[in-house]
Amino acid sequence: MKTQLLTWMLTVLSVAALAQTKTRNVVMISVDGCRWQEIFRGADSTLFNTKKYRQQDSVAMNTKYWGKTADERRSKLMPFFWNTIAKQGQLYGNRDLGNLVNVRNKYWFSYPGRSETLCGYYDEKINSNDYPNNPNENVLEFLNKQKGLEGKVVTFASWDALSRILNRDRNGMLVNIPGEQVKGSKLTEAQKLANELQNYLPEYFGKSVRFDVHTYALTRSYIEANHPRVVHIDFADMDEFGHHGQYDSFLDGAHYVDGMVAGLWNYMQADPFYKDQTTIVIYPDHGRGIGDRWTSHGTSAPHSNETWMAVIGPDTPVGGEMKSQSQIYQDQFAQTVAQLMGFKFTANHPVGEPLKSVFK
Ligand SMILES: [Zn+2]
Repeated sequence: MKTQLLTWMLTVLSVAALAQTKTRNVVMISVDGCRWQEIFRGADSTLFNTKKYRQQDSVAMNTKYWGKTADERRSKLMPFFWNTIAKQGQLYGNRDLGNLVNVRNKYWFSYPGRSETLCGYYDEKINSNDYPNNPNENVLEFLNKQKGLEGKVVTFASWDALSRILNRDRNGMLVNIPGEQVKGSKLTEAQKLANELQNYLPEYFGKSVRFDVHTYALTRSYIEANHPRVVHIDFADMDEFGHHGQYDSFLDGAHYVDGMVAGLWNYMQADPFYKDQTTIVIYPDHGRGIGDRWTSHGTSAPHSNETWMAVIGPDTPVGGEMKSQSQIYQDQFAQTVAQLMGFKFTANHPVGEPLKSVFK
């Protein structure tokens, strides 16, 4: 009897605790293959000065991204991260301080990384980027089933594998991938233009990916027109430029993602629907190697299981650059997002624990 009472009290307490968040909307942003090294140290001097990794004008690149100290370089590379998130939110993953973020999976590439993050679960069977529809349920489809959130959970992706990773065939969520236009009878002019631009973008990296700027245009115009509650954006430029060994464009990729996140945050903070009740969480799907292995990732590139995470929103205490010697994993992000939205994520598999330090 005592045990029953205790269980009942704990249930009441946990429901009460879950209901107390201020977050009503969440934006999850994945940045494919963005290393923690660039986030926390800025441009890497060796790679930056290696001719074969550079195609753009070196004077212009120096002005854009070079500085004597890591502080200077990282602020130039990612001004929104260091001027806004570092002052109002939290940045995890500076290994120079012993603050560790890792993927739990043993593969260190894209489908397994995203699946781990979005499902909150590392499944050993998910071992290929060509893996068919994901059998594991993800936090987005969980949220999409909750009262008031139905049809208000959307994904815009620069890589077409997201349709399989999120298994849209199973859950019917809007998962917009390269080559697809946003449909609807009442599209705004901005949405129509974003749709049209897709016809004219160079297929620089092939048909399975599109440039992040276009994914952003589709996302931003959709948000302004429809006010979704949960937005998931999947950016891919950095990984593509990384594999091509173009370090200058890889840095541009980081800089532009930073700018697009800033644009989104500033828009949301000016819109009463989102203002002060929206949390943005940003992370990669894996890291990359170091030295000349920076172009690659996977088990052949040591250190590419090292990642990072940024968060800003009304429930997150100011922590800035997190300095505690601690370890977190990507499989904890899904439950953290669910908890921010006031839910406990349950699925057809176990789910990683939420990150306590993200909450006040
Ligand atoms: Zn990747």
